[in-house]
Amino acid sequence: MYEKERNELVDLLKKKGIKDEKVLTAINNIERHLFIPDAIGYHAYKDTALPIGYGQTISQPYTVALMTEYLKLSPNDKVLEIGTGSGYQAAILNFMGIKVYSIERNFDIYSRTQKLFDKMGIRAVLRCGDGTLGWSEFAPYNGIIVTAGSPDIPKNLKNQLVANGRLVIPVGDKRTQTLKVLTKIDEENFNIESIPSFAFVPLIGKQGWKEGQL
Ligand code: SAH
Repeated sequence: MYEKERNELVDLLKKKGIKDEKVLTAINNIERHLFIPDAIGYHAYKDTALPIGYGQTISQPYTVALMTEYLKLSPNDKVLEIGTGSGYQAAILNFMGIKVYSIERNFDIYSRTQKLFDKMGIRAVLRCGDGTLGWSEFAPYNGIIVTAGSPDIPKNLKNQLVANGRLVIPVGDKRTQTLKVLTKIDEENFNIESIPSFAFVPLIGKQGWKEGQL
């Protein structure tokens, strides 16, 4: 289903500058309509964020592709995702042969996505909790991707990266954020790249926004 629409989406992402073939192949193979409510299924292959309930969204395909490209991963790498949401980003990573660990703070979203992954046979380790603290049990990670907007860069996430590992995280105020790409040099030093103008839902937690600040 929707094969033609998926091909067109991949062409659009190429035009917008996505070059990583592994990312484009994953987007061409993962059926985004399965990750959103049935009623809006026909919107799945437009390059926009869409509502997934509970005031949350599935990220825009271009944003998913760009963030994944910035992680510069190799198969079998280990990635921590903060903000599982619909599971689409995790499914893209899983398709690329990445070992995915993903944390979601909303229990209803977490259990819905766990059920979907069981049904689809997607193997990712999901947990319900506050991702701003990271997941020390499986650290260090080759990449960490945060799919919600943060006021700052959580310290634990920097600590839980391997040397040369990358952290991709939107940082800013509640409305707009700059995508920060940190490459770890050593425990104290990071190279930082910034890409402006993104709009994510807020990252809520101990090292994110506090519920009272929203
Ligand atoms: N990656 C998702 C995008 C989901 S939107 C996808 O592919 O669909 C961001 C998600 O982050 C929301 O579901 C929200 O509940 C969750 N979130 C916000 N703060 C969080 C935190 N501190 N820890 C884990 N998840 C969080």
